[in-house]
Amino acid sequence: MQDTSLYRAWAEIDTDAMKHNLSVVRRVLPEHRQMAIVKAEAYGHGLEGVAKALDGEDIEFFGVATPAEAARIHALGCRKCPFILGPCFPAEREAIVQNGWRAALSSIEEAEHFNALGKLYGKKVNLHINVDTGMGRAGLLPHDIPSLADHLAPLEHLNIEGIFSHLSAAADDISFTHRQIESYEAAVAELAGKMQLPYRHLCSSSAVFNYTAPSTNMVRLGRILYGYSPMPSPYNRELRNTLTLYSRVTLLRTLPAQHGVSYNHTYITSGATKVATIGIGFGDGYLHYLSNTGARVYLNGSYCPVLGRVTMDQIMVDVSHIKGVQPGDVAEIMGPNVPWEELTARAKTIPSNVITSLTARVPRVYKA
Ligand SMILES: *Cc1c(COP(=O)(O)O)cnc(C)c1O
Repeated sequence: MQDTSLYRAWAEIDTDAMKHNLSVVRRVLPEHRQMAIVKAEAYGHGLEGVAKALDGEDIEFFGVATPAEAARIHALGCRKCPFILGPCFPAEREAIVQNGWRAALSSIEEAEHFNALGKLYGKKVNLHINVDTGMGRAGLLPHDIPSLADHLAPLEHLNIEGIFSHLSAAADDISFTHRQIESYEAAVAELAGKMQLPYRHLCSSSAVFNYTAPSTNMVRLGRILYGYSPMPSPYNRELRNTLTLYSRVTLLRTLPAQHGVSYNHTYITSGATKVATIGIGFGDGYLHYLSNTGARVYLNGSYCPVLGRVTMDQIMVDVSHIKGVQPGDVAEIMGPNVPWEELTARAKTIPSNVITSLTARVPRVYKA
């Protein structure tokens, strides 16, 4: 493993834990194939490192947001094909067709353009029909589905490989989610007699353990792959943590009583206070919103409260209650002792926002 002794902040990534998390879902849904979502630096875990680690797993596709992310998977020489979840600009479609990447279909115009490119390059273009069952973000609307097969029939350079949709509130609105599932099932039933749809997928992390969509045969896994399940489930405790964020004490001082700490003095010492300066800040992705929220780090076996505001590169924590802290000591900033969810609640955001905020300055260290 790489030498971290001079790193101020780094993330240790456990790809075995990701493989384990995939296996938990595989055990619950043995008939379903899996798309591993690696968009946004694999939820902060590092796109290249994660794609390399998972390429040999029994997964079907790597889910990405953009052709630029697909190109990074491609450049690694992965055997698993990128699946571009979001809409693409016309100028991006040529690379999709030439490289055989999977793309989502939201309109007849897109289908016609892809077909023309397929003809030009002598390739079949693999597309998955996206049906907007309520997310309001992309896809064809359910009322476009009955006429779809007729529109697609003459486009002989397309291979309509699948049909999918995305749930908008699976963790929060069960009845609306059931309506989305029904709407998806209706779209599949409508098209099933008219075309082959080998891949049918709807559920992602908030739904895999809690809903069934009878016609589906693949799930798309983001958060669960990274150890976080958004909904209560007996399987949640089987998931393993995949990222631990560490930082080091860079300086140790004792400040006198009535001394302000950090910008604007939102914290003032009440008595003499042993303060450790730690080499992480919002420039690394430790959110400024964590200022004055009771946020804490885990250092030498105990919790130390963050004092005052988070700055760009450093935070200050109270270590008055622990003996023998030294510059260079390692604090856990996020991980088994300071869960993702704790930071999420304090910063009043969502878990994916915390994890994708980790910046390029934070080296990702892959556990051997
Ligand atoms: C990001 C994304 C996912 C992954 O969502 P998780 O809730 O993290 O599993 C799945 N499907 C689509 C279309 C997405 O954009």
